[in-house]
Amino acid sequence: MSSESKPLGDTKRTTLHRVPHKEVKDREVLHQILDAALVGHVGFVQDGQPFVIPVAIARDGDALLLHGSKASRLFKTLASGAPCAVSVTHIDALVLARSAFESSMNYRSALILGVARELEGDEKIRAFDALTDHLLPERRATLRPMNDDEIRQTTILSLPMDEASVKISSKFPADDEADLSWPVWAGNIPIEHKYGTPIPDPRMTTPLPLPDYLERWPEGRT
Ligand SMILES: Cc1cc2nc3c(=O)[nH]c(=O)nc-3n(C[C@H](O)[C@H](O)[C@H](O)COP(=O)(O)OP(=O)(O)OC[C@H]3O[C@@H](n4cnc5c(N)ncnc54)[C@H](O)[C@@H]3O)c2cc1C
Repeated sequence: MSSESKPLGDTKRTTLHRVPHKEVKDREVLHQILDAALVGHVGFVQDGQPFVIPVAIARDGDALLLHGSKASRLFKTLASGAPCAVSVTHIDALVLARSAFESSMNYRSALILGVARELEGDEKIRAFDALTDHLLPERRATLRPMNDDEIRQTTILSLPMDEASVKISSKFPADDEADLSWPVWAGNIPIEHKYGTPIPDPRMTTPLPLPDYLERWPEGRT
C-alpha cells in the first residue's frame, strides 16, 4: 500500500491511547498541518541520549523534506539511517476553564516516525526548490541560482510519512457541571499567527519595490 493511501495512526506506535477521540485519520489533514508549518522538531537518539532539534520543513507529496549542513550532528545521524520522530504543532487557542485542572489549549499536532533517505542529483535540486518555495512561494525562481559548493555543503533528507498520527483538540472548557457557577470568566482566547510589514534589508544596493508575490503575501498563500 502506498503511504498516500495509508490511514494515519494505523501502527501500534502511532495509535492514540490518551483521549483517542482527538485522533484524526484523514491524511489530507496531516498535509494541511505540515503545509501551514515552517518548523518541525526532530527527535533522535545519539549514544543513548535523546535530542530534539527544531528545523525548517517542507512537504513533498507524502514525504517530509529536511535540509541542513553536512557538518550538522543531526543531519549526519539521520543520513546514517538512525530512526527519528518529527513533531509539528499549531496552537489555536487558550482554553480558560474554571479550574486549573481543566485549563488547556486547542491545537493541531502531527507526529511522523521513520528513517530518512538522503537525496542526491536532480531529486536534491528539486527538494531545494520545494524548501525555498515553502518558505515563501514563488521566490525560488527569482533568486541567484545555487552554486555547486552550496549544494555540496547541504544534506537534504526525505522522510517518508508511512507512519504518522494527527491529534486535534478543538473545544470549549470541559468543566464539570458543578463548577459552571464558579465566579470566574471562562472561554477560549483564539491565537492568531500573523506576518508583519516587510522591512527592506539596509544593505540592498538598489532600492527595489516589493515583488508582486510579497504585495499579495500572506493572503496570496494557497
Ligand atoms: C500544545 C499541546 C499541549 C499539550 N499539553 C499537554 C499537557 O500539558 N499534558 C498532557 O498530558 N498532554 C498534553 N498534550 C497532549 C500530548 O501531546 C499527548 O497527546 C498526551 O500527553 C498523551 O501522550 P501519550 O504518550 O501518553 O499518548 P498515547 O496516546 O499513548 O500516544 C500513542 C501515540 O499516539 C500519537 N500521539 C499522541 N499524542 C499526539 C499528538 N499530540 N500529536 C500527534 N500524535 C500524537 C503518537 O503516534 C503516539 O506515539 C498537549 C498537546 C499539545 C499539542
